[in-house]
Parts: sequence; C-alpha cells; structure tokens
Amino acid sequence: MTRKIAVLPGDGIGPEVIAEAVKVLERLRRDFGLKIEMETEPVGGTAYDLHHHPLPVATLRLAEAADAVLLGAVGGVKWDMLPRELRPEKALLGLRSDLKLFANLRPAILYPQLASASTLKPEVVAGLDLLIVRELTGDIYFGEPRGVRTLANGERQGFNTMVYAEHEVERVARVAFDAARKRRKKLCSVEKANVLETSGLWREVVIRVAGDYPDVELSHMYVDNAAMQLVRAPKQFDVIVTGNIFGDILSDEAAMLTGSIGMLPSASLDSANKGMYEPIHGSAPDIAGKGIANPLATILSAGMMLRYTLNEPTLADRIERAVSKVLDQGLRTGDIHTEGTKKVGTAEMGNAVAAALEK
Ligand code: NAD
Repeated sequence: MTRKIAVLPGDGIGPEVIAEAVKVLERLRRDFGLKIEMETEPVGGTAYDLHHHPLPVATLRLAEAADAVLLGAVGGVKWDMLPRELRPEKALLGLRSDLKLFANLRPAILYPQLASASTLKPEVVAGLDLLIVRELTGDIYFGEPRGVRTLANGERQGFNTMVYAEHEVERVARVAFDAARKRRKKLCSVEKANVLETSGLWREVVIRVAGDYPDVELSHMYVDNAAMQLVRAPKQFDVIVTGNIFGDILSDEAAMLTGSIGMLPSASLDSANKGMYEPIHGSAPDIAGKGIANPLATILSAGMMLRYTLNEPTLADRIERAVSKVLDQGLRTGDIHTEGTKKVGTAEMGNAVAAALEK
C-alpha cells in the first residue's frame, strides 16, 4: 500500500531542511522499497503571501487526506505585523487542532560525537536517549473557566483551571506505553499528585492503563523532582509521559540538555497514530537562504514518521544509523561544528546522510 505524505516546507530555513529530508525519503523509496508518495503545499508566511492565509484550504485538505505530515518551520519578521489570526504560527495551531493531534513526542538524543555541545558534563549526557510524551490539547492551557476578574475589594485576580478527563489521560498514556514498548520498556509518569487533584486522577488512570502493558516498567515522579533529575541524571529516563504544562517546560529543558537545537525532531500524533513531524527549531531567519542550516532534525523527523506512523522500524533505524555515521565521519554544519571536524552546508549534509543509508 502506498502511503501519502503531505510535505509543508514553510518559511525561512524550512524549505532548505525539508529538501534534505525529502532527498533521504526519495532514496529509501528508490533503493529500499519504501512505498510513499509526496505532495507539497505552502504553509505559514509563504502561504500567506500566495493565498492571504497561513493555512490555506488546499494545504489543510492535503494534510487531512495524507497519512502523515512533514513540516519544516514557519514564521519570520516579515509577517510579525499581521493580525494574530493571520500570523504564520497560527497554521501550526490550526493543523494540530484540525488533525486532533493530542500527543507530542519529543526525543532528546545526544549523539556521543556531540557530547561537548551540552552545557552538562559529557559523562552525564553522552549517549542520552529519552523521549518526552506531552499531552497537547488539555490541561490548564485550555481549561475553563479562565480569565481576570475583579474582586469585591477592587483588586484584580487572574485564574485558570487545570482539568483532565479520564479519556484524555488514558489516550496519551497509551501512546506513551506503546512508545516505551518500541524502546527500553520504561515509562515514568510525571505529575504533582501530592498537591493537585487533577494529578491524583492522572496517576490513577495511568496505573489502570499499565494493566494492559505488563512488559513496561512504570514509575511515577513529581514534576519538581523530574526537573531536577533531568539535569542530575537524565540517562535514568527512557520515556516520560506528562500533561500539557509540565510537558511544555520539561521538554524544553530536555532539549537543552543536548545543546543542539538543529538535531532534535518531534512528532504530534492522533489516536490512530497519524502524525505531524517537524524539527523543534523555528525558521531561523538569521541564517535562511545561506545554505548552512542543519537538516538533521528534519531528517530525524522523517525517521520518526517511519517509526510511528508508517510502521517501518527497520527504515527508521537505517536513517538514525546514517545520521550517526555522518557524525562519525566528522561532518558538521555550523551550529555543531567544533575544532577538528569538517564544516559542511545543508545540502552536503543531506547528501552524506542519503549516501550513508546504503551501508
Ligand atoms: P529558531 O529556532 O528559528 O532559531 C533560534 C537559533 O537557533 C537561531 O540562531 C538559529 O539560527 C538557530 N537554528 C535554529 N535551527 C537551526 C538549524 N536547523 N541549523 C542551524 N541553526 C539553527 O527560533 P527563533 O529565532 O526564536 O524564531 C524564529 C522564527 O521561527 C520566529 O518567527 C518564530 O515564531 C518561529 N518559530 C517557529 C517554530 C515552528 O515552526 N515550529 C518553532 C519555533 C519558532
């Protein structure tokens, strides 16, 4: 069966890094029997320039019809003056809510070859490979009631509501257990059950779901401790599952452990494992058009797409091994370049990964 990929390059370095991921996928199609077809539509500021909307109907329809979406990045100063609903970033929110993508998967992988890029000691982070599964559509970011009210004494008071229904916890827990099954089979659920009722229910539901995954070792950790453990001994974690606000903070903390934003992929999944895959970095306007952006985060995002949506773990492994090999060869884009390694551009890095797939 041929699967359809919606390719949305976006703005800034988006088209440059997407071109390299497409190159790698084309090579897998040509030489390794991957059955996909790819179709491209504009998104973000580029789409606004062409169609006066950051998420035109044709782009949304393509994303809906596709099995998976591969996205570059959106945004740029050129569009910062637009009203909020027409800003490039609005396209991301539109795609996430239209496609009902409720689980955000962010691996933090530190290739041993890049251990010196981290601000932590190499022995603490070298070989780090953890995955944060963050719930994306609920929690205090969306809970009602919310607002700012005026109290009887005239003072203003801001308020938000942390809410999670059982089904919301259950479905993200299942994504996390399934992901742990494909990895080292350890899952840590992070919340604040000592203080918050919402977290107490979260823990209860996760324990219930664990009954269906006897092969996965489940542990629980309060979020303040998790934030500490991530910098103290991050290699203790395999998969972490957590709510929207805690995940927002912890996933950025985990990304920074690796010190190289150009290396980190991400996925957002629905309940049928359809996904949107994108690098965690933005459109990097400061280096756009120069051919120097690191395409590895986007290439690794394509790898995640093969693993989680297209169910092609062998080809996903092949991409990850190829990335490791080019790092072994000493090839580095500017963002990860250190003395004694060879500085290459975006296309040269993509070509090297495509070539390394063979071995
Ligand atoms: P950014 O991630 O674009 O850039 C931060 C820094 O990292 C810059 O110095 C940039 O040159 C560098 N960088 C990022 N990706 C790189 C890569 N692949 N290779 C080498 N260097 C890389 O974040 P920002 O500067 O805060 O935002 C720029 C624009 O991107 C803004 O319009 C913002 O709204 C948007 N943005 C979009 C997304 C997204 O599309 N998912 C995410 C974050 C920011």
